[in-house]
Amino acid sequence: MNRPADRVTGPVLAPRDKGYDEERAGWQTARRHRPDLVVGAAGPADVQAAVTYAQEHGLPVGVQGTGHASAAVAAEGGVLITTARMSAVRVDADARTAWVAAGTRWDQVIDRTAPAGLAPLSGSAPRVGAVSYTLGGGLALLSRSFGYAADHVRGLDVVTADGRLRHVTQDSDPDLFWALRGGRDNFGVVTGMEIDLVPVATLFGGVLIFPVEKAAEVFGTYLQWAATVPEAMNSSIALISLPDVPAIPEPMRGRHTVHVRIACAAGDPGAGERLVAPLRAISPMLDTLGELAYADAGSIYNDPVAPGAVESGTAMLGELDAAAVRTILDLAGPHAPVPHIVELRHLGGRLAHPPAVANAVGNRDARYLLNVISRLERAGLTQIRPAHARMFEAIGPWSTGGRFLNFMNGENAAAQVRSAYNPTDHRRLTALKAVHDPANLFRLNHNIPPARGPVRD
Ligand SMILES: Cc1cc2nc3c(=O)[nH]c(=O)nc-3n(C[C@H](O)[C@H](O)[C@H](O)COP(=O)(O)OP(=O)(O)OC[C@H]3O[C@@H](n4cnc5c(N)ncnc54)[C@H](O)[C@@H]3O)c2cc1C
Repeated sequence: MNRPADRVTGPVLAPRDKGYDEERAGWQTARRHRPDLVVGAAGPADVQAAVTYAQEHGLPVGVQGTGHASAAVAAEGGVLITTARMSAVRVDADARTAWVAAGTRWDQVIDRTAPAGLAPLSGSAPRVGAVSYTLGGGLALLSRSFGYAADHVRGLDVVTADGRLRHVTQDSDPDLFWALRGGRDNFGVVTGMEIDLVPVATLFGGVLIFPVEKAAEVFGTYLQWAATVPEAMNSSIALISLPDVPAIPEPMRGRHTVHVRIACAAGDPGAGERLVAPLRAISPMLDTLGELAYADAGSIYNDPVAPGAVESGTAMLGELDAAAVRTILDLAGPHAPVPHIVELRHLGGRLAHPPAVANAVGNRDARYLLNVISRLERAGLTQIRPAHARMFEAIGPWSTGGRFLNFMNGENAAAQVRSAYNPTDHRRLTALKAVHDPANLFRLNHNIPPARGPVRD
């Protein structure tokens, strides 16, 4: 196969080339992209050249930032564009905005915004790719207070299927702007985005860790508490089977523990202290809550930095009761057939409000987001998959039927992708896909297929 090397500044690598494996590797090691060609884009012109080449040769296009989500989208064949070299941040502190290039991680953005006392709407893991996270919705540490990250995008630079580089805003192309914010990688390769920053230099945050013997009491108290807290309070609760490794301190090593993660943007740390009093009253075995610089907010979830093999599933839930808690504890507690992390992220607040400029992010009525995560280092897929399936079936009565795109891994069935959107929005997305990518060049992803005929509501 001839290559677009003469048109590209970065490396262009085929399977037998030195460096191919490093270029396609990402954080998620469970499944890897195996493209015909990988193009290490050094800038928007390289992305244009790669997309044009793929289009000319009838090859599908995949994109990889940090590879945190590659489990569901591992490309077999086609052209994979990697964006790690496209890392840049420009901050306008007066306007409270930042421009972020395609391959930039959130920690690189925060390094530039923190000195100005500003923060992006980043999530639990600072090393996730900022652009992909935002295009997939972006459930932030502070989302109950400010909304989804996708609700705070001002403009996008994107290479569309025709190879054109466009600057897309609400004024220039309201339909494409709507679709890109939530439709993620279905409408083009985003080379940069302009986002709002929020005036948060510090928050009240950390984690409370309880022994599993208190799990029923902690979950019960947490759910009652979460129903009453103001928008300033952001939190999640997780039942975690901790591995038996020296990095985990005693007495938590090798045990099940309950973690309540807190990120309160009330401004006054005293307000956070008062709000968490009912949780502290259950006497956690570890309490790290206190005033925290936003730049250190990654310590709240302490998500793993090193690459790993992960299988996970996700569901949006409504209000939860004691029977829902029993279901989770029965299936994920010490008697579970495989070790899990089962977390409930508290939604509502600003997440439930329509954004100032509408976008495609769906399921705003959900109250909790459930994630079930297992590491392949600790159990095989043949054990993990049925255990996850049992959990999602059992929690079915509390599910809204929706899912959150950013947490979909290994579940690329069309019906599951549809569940990330409101039905009319999904129909609109398929109609726009037929306009902007009729050949479905961008299909190595959680795919929104182009509508085949006129779309009716
Ligand atoms: C430990 C961990 C914690 C997480 N925490 C959160 C969280 O708190 N909130 C949240 O919302 N999500 C969270 N996520 C999910 C994460 O935001 C998504 O998986 C996100 O898509 C990762 O982007 P990436 O670039 O890092 O990964 P990649 O695997 O490189 O990319 C993921 C997808 O995005 C597409 N993509 C990448 N770059 C571009 C681009 N420039 N233009 C168009 N499409 C592109 C790719 O096609 C790919 O399908 C978490 C994931 C992990 C593993």
